Amino acid sequence: MARSAAAKKVAKAASTGAGGKGAQTDRNLLFPAAIALVIVLGVVLIFVARDRRAENAPQGSPTLQDHWHSAYQVYVCDEVSPLAYPDDSGDDRTGIHSHGDGLMHIHPFVSTVSAQFATLGVFFEEIEVTLDDSALQLPNGTVLREGEFTCGTGDDAVDAELRVLKWNTLGAETPIGFRENLQGIRLNENGQLFVFAMVDPALDDEDIPRPDDAFLREYLGLPDEQRPIAENPSTDVGPTPEVPAEDAPDTTEGGGE
Ligand SMILES: [Zn+2]
Ligand SMILES: [Zn+2]
Repeated sequence: MARSAAAKKVAKAASTGAGGKGAQTDRNLLFPAAIALVIVLGVVLIFVARDRRAENAPQGSPTLQDHWHSAYQVYVCDEVSPLAYPDDSGDDRTGIHSHGDGLMHIHPFVSTVSAQFATLGVFFEEIEVTLDDSALQLPNGTVLREGEFTCGTGDDAVDAELRVLKWNTLGAETPIGFRENLQGIRLNENGQLFVFAMVDPALDDEDIPRPDDAFLREYLGLPDEQRPIAENPSTDVGPTPEVPAEDAPDTTEGGGE
């Protein structure tokens, strides 16, 4: 009996350890503290994940139901390129691409390229053409790079700069000029105009011609009163032939168009 009591004493001494009672109290608190920390972290993670999900959710237009058209033009030094990027319809994975008609067809069929994710970068990736902040691939396949490509000849030659001009609506007279994050430029309206320009950095945005939007207007079948009033219609807007309403193309074409 006495032996057993002694053994218990030894065992107790061993369990409380060198630190005595204080250390045991700390250890007893450690477990609930760890549980509390796990719970707090879990709750924080839930909120972070929810925030991130909201951030990554498509918000706005174009939706999967939209089918928009915008026009683009390529401008090199002082010349409009008459060429259009080739038809990509046979290999269209996202629905933001070209039919080889000088228009950007924007009919996203996956949400990852809809709303805020419908960008120039998606368009160029889909048609497999290079566009980043310093290089532009022309419709003929040539890639023009900042630091390599120059405008002007001889002593007048200057390193060209890549920029994108965007007219937010078909009625907009003045473009917004972009020089960086070109892939992130949004396709956020039906009937926008774009110019992909490799030009003298000193050239004003206003000296780059607005794209000829006649074909796009015809395509969208807009009434006259919505046509822009340019300062100099003969040079600023280009030809805008009258299109009888019944001949205007159907803008609610099917998914393949
Ligand atoms: Zn299409
Ligand atoms: Zn289309």
